[in-house]
Amino acid sequence: MSDAALDTLRHVFGYDRFRGEQGRIVDHVRDGGDALVLMPTGGGKSLCYQLPALLRDGTGIVVSPLIALMQDQVDALRQLGVRAAFLNSSLDGAEAAQVERQFLAGELDLLYVAPERLLTPRFLSLMEQARIALFAIDEAHCVSQWGHDFRPEYRQLTLLHERWPGVPRIALTATADAPTRREIVERLALDEARQFVSSFDRPNIRYTVAPRDDGRRQLFDFLDRHRGESGIVYCLSRRKVDATAELLAQRGVPALAYHAGLDGATRAERQRRFLREDGIVMVATIAFGMGIDKPDVRFVAHLDLPKSLEGYYQETGRAGRDGDPAEAWLGYGMGDAVLLRRMIEDGDASEERKRLEHGKLDALIGYCESTACRRQTLLAYFGEAHAGDCGNCDNCLQPPQTWDATEAARKALSCVYRTGQRFGAAHVIDVLRGADTAKVRQFGHETLSTYGIGRDLDMRQWRGVFRQLLAAGLLDTDLDGHGALRLTAEATPLLRGERSLHLRMDAPKPERRRSRQGD
Ligand code: ADP
Ligand code: ZN
Repeated sequence: MSDAALDTLRHVFGYDRFRGEQGRIVDHVRDGGDALVLMPTGGGKSLCYQLPALLRDGTGIVVSPLIALMQDQVDALRQLGVRAAFLNSSLDGAEAAQVERQFLAGELDLLYVAPERLLTPRFLSLMEQARIALFAIDEAHCVSQWGHDFRPEYRQLTLLHERWPGVPRIALTATADAPTRREIVERLALDEARQFVSSFDRPNIRYTVAPRDDGRRQLFDFLDRHRGESGIVYCLSRRKVDATAELLAQRGVPALAYHAGLDGATRAERQRRFLREDGIVMVATIAFGMGIDKPDVRFVAHLDLPKSLEGYYQETGRAGRDGDPAEAWLGYGMGDAVLLRRMIEDGDASEERKRLEHGKLDALIGYCESTACRRQTLLAYFGEAHAGDCGNCDNCLQPPQTWDATEAARKALSCVYRTGQRFGAAHVIDVLRGADTAKVRQFGHETLSTYGIGRDLDMRQWRGVFRQLLAAGLLDTDLDGHGALRLTAEATPLLRGERSLHLRMDAPKPERRRSRQGD
């Protein structure tokens, strides 16, 4: 490692040493190499381009999709004495002209630019006249059309490489599953770039997945354990965000709603409060969070299934950046997977893309139903091995029991079959449990041979069985309309008595945990 790099690290940034791969990345880019940096949120990506920009001649151009964040980054850099500026739509003409002048005069170490601004003929010609130290492409996964952060302009960034082949490029992201990584390399023409892959493990985050039975009460219990702490509660829909925020506010929780349906000023104000005030609970869709740098977010709770494991990992990664204990909690219900499957099917994506999305959803459901260490499962998804159990996830702390569910599963499958594969789980469970409902009578289901054969299990246990039969692919749902359960070919061996089935025993009704971790 060069002395100049260490020297700058200490004297400008005030850190004693590099973290993880930082030192190697800084050296590589300083020497003119291209780099793809995969580092979890909070890992310290910014330094990987800020420092080499200071060590090289000229201005480091930072492409970032996050206008809100540019201001924060630039303020922080200026406080360190670094000559930094940004160009985006929040500046008026005179301010922008001033930044451009400084850029041309070689008075900037770092210049943050939104991609759409960077690609304008005006800015490209400015860059022709200036001296450029490096190009940093932040949030590089925005180039991937499979992700929810897709930015079409990112696709055009290969132009940088074509016009300025001698300027090193460093692309950075915290989203790093193999398909996304391949896409970044391909779309940004980074085949020659050296890849720096950091461990994605976040040992201070405790992962818990809870089958959802009474979602509202489960959320209250969870928040009771985190009273006074800052956190994020993710919901799938705007409507649920609004309703949940209101519910929490009524309970005296300082909750704010955040989603793309709110106007920009309201969103900015709520984001600012979340960052500046203590103990705010942000109830949000995934519109909230990218680039939020708040070190003391103590929890991230998902009330609905996220869309994929990498989305989940990124969202939960916003917790505990300061390294102190934090909690990621996911409530998961049978309906979630059905709903997400239907959303995929109803979308107008290509068949190829739908297949890919179904695959991602399968991985996510596998994670939820797994009895193995959550951390191992998560890291394995990102191609990383974790030695042994982590001791800091629900499955490690309270190893789940399994039970021989062969008989129950057979009853469930037969009952789906006997009722004509036209009903959802709620009705089939009613038939199994011999319930006397209007719907049962309407269809004459009290006369079926499977009526009442499942009284030995309660409603909750049956829901667990159906959820897991869906997850294991023995059942699927009719996606065209009503979400009716249907048998798949996988169900046959079980019905024929050729195989047995062991299922996870859902934890007993969640008792109130004693206290929050650490006290
Ligand atoms: P990322 O962009 O990967 O999410 P940041 O670049 O925002 O992460 O860095 C996360 C935190 O780590 C910041 O508060 C930053 O100041 C701190 N940090 C980065 N590098 C170091 C280092 N070498 N030593 C100590 N703290 C560091
Ligand atoms: Zn574990």
